[in-house]
Amino acid sequence: MTNWIPACAGMTNKTMSYTEHLPDEAATRTLGARLAPLMRSGLVIFLQGDLGAGKTTLARALIQALGYAGRVKSPTYTLVELYKVSSLCLYHFDFYRFNDPQEWIDAGFRECFNAENICLVEWPERAAGLLPTPDLIIQLSHADHARRVKIRADTGAGQNLLQHLQQ
Ligand code: ADP
Ligand code: MG
Repeated sequence: MTNWIPACAGMTNKTMSYTEHLPDEAATRTLGARLAPLMRSGLVIFLQGDLGAGKTTLARALIQALGYAGRVKSPTYTLVELYKVSSLCLYHFDFYRFNDPQEWIDAGFRECFNAENICLVEWPERAAGLLPTPDLIIQLSHADHARRVKIRADTGAGQNLLQHLQQ
């Protein structure tokens, strides 16, 4: 059962992390493709970083690597997009424009975070307190013209995923 505590509630003894330099967009997309086969129902993944850091690029590559052939657009305006692919239900959220917690409750977004679905969440900090603890926090940052990624695992499922990513 999902544990409803505020986002980024703190480190646990399961925390482990992984960092990588991403020299160009192709490297970001490759990381998305490496993450795709590690997706499992119930995972909650936060994507953090400034505008243009590559959150949507990474999510798009992951969704396409799962086998989704259609267009993967940024959910900035729609708040969420659903992808049913490879026998998975994947919700891609973007809370950049989110400012009404009542909207969250009314739309039933909370129910999306359950054991059957995968949730990728851009700008989770804008919905702090409404989201469950993430399994992974993927932090993208600008490094001159390139990017740097730091992935932190705060749960057993996240740690397991991160171990496989590094194999
Ligand atoms: P966000 O969702 O974080 O706002 P986007 O994914 O929409 O960012 O945009 C990221 C931009 O940065 C795109 O123009 C993409 O081509 C570029 N980009 C992605 N990864 C890299 C990288 N590793 N190095 C340089 N540019 C990148
Ligand atoms: Mg984005």
